[in-house]
Amino acid sequence: MKDSDNVICLKGIGAKTAKLFERIGITSIGDLLLYYPKGYQKYLAPKKIVESKPEETITVELFVVADFKWKKVRNLSVGSGLCSDGQTKIAITYFNAPYMKKRMTAGGCYLFRGKLKMENGRYSMDQPKLYSWKEYEALMGQLWPCYGLTAGLTNRTVLKAVRQILACEDFEPEEYVPDKLRQEYGLLSRKEALSQIHFPKDYESLLRARQRLVFDEFFLFLLSIRQTKEYNQAIPTDYPMIETAWPGRLMEQLPFSLTGAQLRVWEEIKADLTSGLCMNRLVQGDVGSGKTIVAFLALLLAVSNGYQGALMAPTELLAAQHFEQLCQLTQKYKLPFSPVLLTGSVGASAKKELYRSIGEGEANVIIGTHALIQEKVSYHKLGLVITDEQHRFGVRQRELLNEKGGRAHVLVMSATPIPRTLAIILYGDLHLSAIRELPVGRLPIKNCVVGTSYRHKAHEFLVKEVRKGNQAYVICPMVEAGDDETEGLENVTDYGERLKNILPEDIHVEILHGKMKPADKKRVMEAFAAGDVHVLVSTTVIEVGINVPRATVMMIENAERFGLAQLHQLRGRIGRGTEQSYCIFINGSDSEASAERLSILNHSNDGFAIAEEDLKLRGPGDLFGIRQSGEMDFKIADIYQDAELLKKVSISVDHILSEGGLETQEWAPLRRYLDKNAGNFIDFGTI
Ligand code: ADP
Ligand code: MG
Repeated sequence: MKDSDNVICLKGIGAKTAKLFERIGITSIGDLLLYYPKGYQKYLAPKKIVESKPEETITVELFVVADFKWKKVRNLSVGSGLCSDGQTKIAITYFNAPYMKKRMTAGGCYLFRGKLKMENGRYSMDQPKLYSWKEYEALMGQLWPCYGLTAGLTNRTVLKAVRQILACEDFEPEEYVPDKLRQEYGLLSRKEALSQIHFPKDYESLLRARQRLVFDEFFLFLLSIRQTKEYNQAIPTDYPMIETAWPGRLMEQLPFSLTGAQLRVWEEIKADLTSGLCMNRLVQGDVGSGKTIVAFLALLLAVSNGYQGALMAPTELLAAQHFEQLCQLTQKYKLPFSPVLLTGSVGASAKKELYRSIGEGEANVIIGTHALIQEKVSYHKLGLVITDEQHRFGVRQRELLNEKGGRAHVLVMSATPIPRTLAIILYGDLHLSAIRELPVGRLPIKNCVVGTSYRHKAHEFLVKEVRKGNQAYVICPMVEAGDDETEGLENVTDYGERLKNILPEDIHVEILHGKMKPADKKRVMEAFAAGDVHVLVSTTVIEVGINVPRATVMMIENAERFGLAQLHQLRGRIGRGTEQSYCIFINGSDSEASAERLSILNHSNDGFAIAEEDLKLRGPGDLFGIRQSGEMDFKIADIYQDAELLKKVSISVDHILSEGGLETQEWAPLRRYLDKNAGNFIDFGTI
């Protein structure tokens, strides 16, 4: 079996399943091995109902009091029966599960695993899984992988496929890190790490496996970027600029005056752009600090110098919003912009026309997602590239851009504070600007952290705010009801339905999530921005950058599942107008630690301080929660969480390169690996 073999060569995988795998980006054995679990499930020892809490997924030994009654309800066959754990009675229900009939008889004792529910003092469990003690004991004491799935593909299928590969005798992934380096870092072998990341013996082995794989990601990434020119030198620009009157004129006409911090950053940018060297600047400013207008000023300087400017956003939603804003500004103040919007969802013929107008220089501002540098766009005179909330834009991307034209100026804008040491590793030698000041006239957001019992009050509060003419966001961590691992977490689909039923009919509730078609997302977001949708139930797709000043409530379900920095970002969607705004964090867990963590948000509205606290508080227990950052497209590494390792690897890589690079014998396996995976490697970290 070779890495490059198609997954179809595995037993149990036919053309149909292979298609499903393809949908999650897996075609080869190698892809599958690198498809790390999203999380792990632990089967805990069975316990009594009195020891458990409602909504908890438990395993309990139950005695079937009387035979189950099976009836037909519409097209469904429903079986229900009463069971008892000796102390507490519980109603068990199965839907369309005729095979269960044979498996249980009155008087028998079985292990049931499912989500415990309680209503009006009565316990129930729907569709629990049934185990014998022998079956269950085999599951206990191990960590079981939970993979990202797609409709039709079960966790079991993925798990079995991975197990088959690992069990294969000729499974021998190439070890490309020399022994000396492995010892220095205490790294597992690649083979061991790959087996343990999928089927960890215990938590300790899982952490070690992860450490090895994170090392590999950083190591390969840094090796590739350190060898580019872009990494550490100031390069003369192909697009020198001079000052023009346009930016100053726009500033005078705006309905507000720029804050001191905005003005300072603008001066820094202007100095870069007119210096003759390529700008490479990162602007960090808390959510709502007004980065967009600064970006527009920079675009204005570039365009009035006869160049094109590009503005890249992480989502189509945000790109569309920037485009709208720029169009309005252009019209209102008669600016020399002719902007276009280029995203992945533009149809083929429209795209052709866009390419033409970009190529001929007719369009002078190009706004879009990463399609901007990824696709076959050729620019006329692209002098300035701005990326908004897009940390994935690093040295590698700059290099890619240079291949498309000359050496453009680069401005990266971010609300997520990145420590300087990390920024330099990712972006090379760069300059930093900070906006640590909010525009005047903003009322500080009022926060509260509450348990789920407060939920109905929160809903009443939403109604009250909507009646005042305001709008609200409700955030859930999941798109739809999920697998075991995510059980108990709120999901947008069901929550949206529920809210539609609970809230008065004239309150318009809509849902938004990443799996929706771009056109639907756009429609919903536009309706929300226009005030036609009052309550938007969404995943974190709205996290970055969206600006709807009339939204005054942000309610976040399962707040404990998010990183603090991410919660702070979400909170940044409100408090953007002059009205008082409110953020309600619903804590779905009753652990002390998560209450303590969330209370930091209660006391601070300062993103920089929150990010620091977050790093301090996050321990290994949070390793496999929702990932904080998708920076640089690492599969498993997290530049924040693994910051220390990143710094260390950075030093090692510099050392290796200064000692003669990869030419020596000990690096032969790595050279071989890179040759074989050339495609992957070059793309590594590109968008
Ligand atoms: P972010 O830094 O999060 O990207 P935005 O650029 O979206 O923030 O700005 C948030 C809101 O503040 C926008 O509605 C913008 O028009 C407004 N704004 C920006 N600068 C100022 C200012 N100096 N005074 C008042 N409002 C401002
Ligand atoms: Mg922004």
